[in-house]
Amino acid sequence: MSKNITELSNNLTLLKYKFQNKFERGIGSPNSLIVEEDDEIAIIDPATWTHNLKLFLKYRDIDKIKDNYSVKKIFLTHEHWDHILSSSFYQEKLGFTILCHKLEKDAVENEEILFTHMFDDYSILEKEMRISTISKKIIKKAITWMWGPYKPMKVSNTLKEGDSFFDNPQIKVIETPSHTLGSLSFYIPSEKILFSGDLIDLELGVGLDLNNPHSSVKAGLRSLEKIKKLDVEKLIPGHGEIVEGKKIIQDLIEKRIQETNCVYNKLIELLETSPKTLRSLIIGVFPESRWKINVYYLRKYLIFAYLNEINKTKGLNIEQKMNKTLISL
Ligand SMILES: [Zn+2]
Repeated sequence: MSKNITELSNNLTLLKYKFQNKFERGIGSPNSLIVEEDDEIAIIDPATWTHNLKLFLKYRDIDKIKDNYSVKKIFLTHEHWDHILSSSFYQEKLGFTILCHKLEKDAVENEEILFTHMFDDYSILEKEMRISTISKKIIKKAITWMWGPYKPMKVSNTLKEGDSFFDNPQIKVIETPSHTLGSLSFYIPSEKILFSGDLIDLELGVGLDLNNPHSSVKAGLRSLEKIKKLDVEKLIPGHGEIVEGKKIIQDLIEKRIQETNCVYNKLIELLETSPKTLRSLIIGVFPESRWKINVYYLRKYLIFAYLNEINKTKGLNIEQKMNKTLISL
């Protein structure tokens, strides 16, 4: 099998696009999982046109998919572009139905909502977090170039904790809010496989991958505790390589919990010392981000999610002084 495609068992296939060289377009291509049982097929996170769909079409005969399967489902872990984009191809060309959590449905079905969800509601630090219209246009262009365009799709049903599909292998839905509030993981008990979506992101995340105003630290910690209790031998993260071995997986989850608590405690410590700007908090927690603009940008969203949480539980003082926004406890 190609290194881009891994057969995990007779009826489970992992699509993971591996970049051939550094000039290939894009970053962070997500994982997709194909699950097959007799005449039923499911794809968890079909993901991008440029990477995942390209792989799928290279290795699968789409006419056979069209004719040989009577049940065709797409399960989405969450609403973000990189995980959902090519779903419209499967829906339109091959008759797949699309399922996701009810909190993600509107964004999956509407590009405008999908896009604004990434940048709306920075209420407590609106001025610091707001992105100019020009930057938004550039981000949208970059996303389309890397991963392909958004094309309209319809969600036929919503998913919730405890739902299950197929018999062999059975796919169980587990609610794991954090990265977004309607984020789901999919558990396959017979194979002890967990497809975690971006609750575990091994390419970009520190602790939790919190990259938008709806990300939640508290919910994320609860979700990590929840998946730690599952019997998992293979963990497929939203991004990054598959992780194998129960002990290694449990240690990894535990490390993520500790990293999350560590960021939280460091922030509290900084905020208690003296009022700080957002920039000094980001660099205070992640000194390496001072020199790397892309890392700084990602950590900015992460720190915002923590500040949002601290504001809800402890209350923050946010004041304007000499043209600077100062944050303290
Ligand atoms: Zn995401």
